[in-house]
Amino acid sequence: MSYAETDLLPISALQHLLFCPRQCALIHNEQLWADNHLTAQGQVLHERAHTPKHESRPGVRITRSLYLSSRVLGLRGIADIIEFHRDGTIIPVEYKRGKPKSNDCDRIQLCAQAMCLEEMRQSTIPAGALYYGQRRRRTEVVFDDSLRARTTEAARELHQLIRSRRTPAAVREPKCDACSLIDLCLPDALAHQSDTTSWFVRRLQASLKSQI
Ligand code: SF4
Repeated sequence: MSYAETDLLPISALQHLLFCPRQCALIHNEQLWADNHLTAQGQVLHERAHTPKHESRPGVRITRSLYLSSRVLGLRGIADIIEFHRDGTIIPVEYKRGKPKSNDCDRIQLCAQAMCLEEMRQSTIPAGALYYGQRRRRTEVVFDDSLRARTTEAARELHQLIRSRRTPAAVREPKCDACSLIDLCLPDALAHQSDTTSWFVRRLQASLKSQI
């Protein structure tokens, strides 16, 4: 299958999907967004990672903010850093706040970047790296068959969710406390409401927030 250019979805949406399908639908189907201190920290880290645009060091050319896309996965995005080494090795590096997570969402996002780059350059990228702000060092990520399969599946689920135009019901979990959309999602209040009522209350909340 090959997606049209206009159907490509942001690679970052994979993170939202893997964190919480409802959060993904609120952001990408309902166009809602809110920042909290965690998203603000992430944004500062990314801004730092994106300058300067190009840099050369012995044996390696570093490119920042490179546009990536894949018609096979149906994804597009901007890579923080891609290293092009003299021996032909290509290494994508993604900056993240905090420390490595117990789930796969960062690894899948990075793997999606690598798969985009492979498709664009007709090359093979065996591994990349995640740089966590709290640790201040790289963690290598090997793009093995299992990670590639999970990435492909996540991209497929993302397209399915966006195509459906539905927002899954809220399920209150501990992770909700770290979610920047909690005041728009209202997981405690709206878990058992109908889709229409929930949608109306969210729009009202978003509208009130924008007027403050
Ligand atoms: S508050 Fe919880 S249920 Fe609602 S979008 Fe965030 S993580 Fe998902």
